[in-house]
Amino acid sequence: MRADIQRAEKMKTLGELAASIAHEVRNPLTVVSGFLQLMRPNEEGKNRQYLNFAMEELARAESIISDYLNFSKPHLTKLELVDLAEILNTIITLLTPMASKNNLFIDSALEERIYVFTDRGQLQQALVNVVKNAIEATPSGGKVNVSSAVVDGQARIIIADSGKGMNKEQLSRIGTLFFSTKEVGTGLGTAVAIRIIETMNGTIDYESEEGAGTTVTITLPLRAEQSYLSL
Ligand code: ADP
Ligand code: MG
Repeated sequence: MRADIQRAEKMKTLGELAASIAHEVRNPLTVVSGFLQLMRPNEEGKNRQYLNFAMEELARAESIISDYLNFSKPHLTKLELVDLAEILNTIITLLTPMASKNNLFIDSALEERIYVFTDRGQLQQALVNVVKNAIEATPSGGKVNVSSAVVDGQARIIIADSGKGMNKEQLSRIGTLFFSTKEVGTGLGTAVAIRIIETMNGTIDYESEEGAGTTVTITLPLRAEQSYLSL
């Protein structure tokens, strides 16, 4: 018991440390990214390509930092009415370039007028992390399906891919901090997504079959009036 408490304290301190480093490092990154953006129009050929690479890598560093910040501080700060179809469309638009680069397609079947009352930024981060993994798992020519509906008085989002899937051992480790099977993976994305969804009183469930694909089912409480109407 005592060891548990000590461990929890240690995790808390580590979390706070990670958060403050992430916070401090993010500012200079933003400045560097701003200067690179200013330089870009004046460059062509190889230099422009180098600037693009540099900016892509900065974006990657920023997204890793966001994950750390989110993991140590999953507070829902600004609650608002979020239209699920709208936020899912935004995420699809954001990730379409990544999908196209891998020669795959994001298909969607989104029910209109499903509202949740939550922190939009956090929800977007959780969903982006899940959809990104689906894209990364899917081979060229494949498809990722994103759908949303109201089921049993709850909002339900399904992200399904026909990618490489996971074996039992991998599936049992999903969501464990730093678990990654990727060469450049951080093993943060899923842990963050799970933490955010659970903070929202939602659930997130992974089903996967090696070689066949993965289906992630997320449920979220509907905005009060809407769940009353759907009874
Ligand atoms: P990362 O993407 O940096 O590896 P994540 O926490 O996002 O870290 O994911 C952890 C691991 O879970 C991945 O490396 C991968 O092995 C597995 N995983 C997550 N989503 C999927 C998916 N849709 N299909 C197959 N494996 C997945
Ligand atoms: Mg990931």
